[in-house]
Amino acid sequence: MVGLVSPKHGIPVRVGTLPPMNSNLELVEKLVSKKSQTTSHIIKAFKAIDRKDFVLPQDQDRAYEDNALLIGYGATISQPTTVAIMLENLQPQAGDKVLEIGTGSGYLTALLACIVGDKGKVFSIEYVPELKAFAENNLEKYEFENIKLFVGDGKLGLAAEKPFDKIISSASAAEVPKAWKEQLKTGGQLLSPVGDDLAVLEKLSKNKFKEEKIRGFVFVPLQ
Ligand code: SAH
Repeated sequence: MVGLVSPKHGIPVRVGTLPPMNSNLELVEKLVSKKSQTTSHIIKAFKAIDRKDFVLPQDQDRAYEDNALLIGYGATISQPTTVAIMLENLQPQAGDKVLEIGTGSGYLTALLACIVGDKGKVFSIEYVPELKAFAENNLEKYEFENIKLFVGDGKLGLAAEKPFDKIISSASAAEVPKAWKEQLKTGGQLLSPVGDDLAVLEKLSKNKFKEEKIRGFVFVPLQ
């Protein structure tokens, strides 16, 4: 297990054999300077979670590039700018109960868990069992107690744990699955790639949603 400590110079670093933290920090600083990230608690999570912990061994030297990287089984760890834009639009808060669809590497899962904190919870569903195992292994480098991973078809959501404050998918759908809309709390936010757009929905009442679209993304399609 690896935790976070505050060293002499005051910047949190991971314990263990590690990439220099300033490399991850450089990535975060780049996201902040491009204004992809503006919210302080989200920036803090990006600093605490090292992207290198979520890429394949052969891509270790590319971990801080602002690119999506292959993680096998047709999946990618999302581009950092995309992840930042997704989280800025979802605005998860401490204490939130979040449903994630498409665990992949577990990178976004870790960021979400960091943001929602001890009083919150992240439920994440992955379709490919090998990727769930990859994410599990990556997440073990941290000491999260607020994450639950599942293998299954995320289109169905997770009825046993509804309602959710936030729902976020990393895989694109032709339209937002009904189950997600139903399992979202009234007042909650849902973010899902729809085609090449990112749909941001707010649930106003049982059957009423406010929807905005952000254009120009590429996502792995939902199976
Ligand atoms: N946020 C992840 C993105 C992974 S790519 C990361 O940064 O690592 C999208 C993931 O969605 C892939 O791992 C893919 O296997 C998964 N996926 C595709 N269809 C799915 C479905 N129906 N249910 C759950 N996961 C699915």
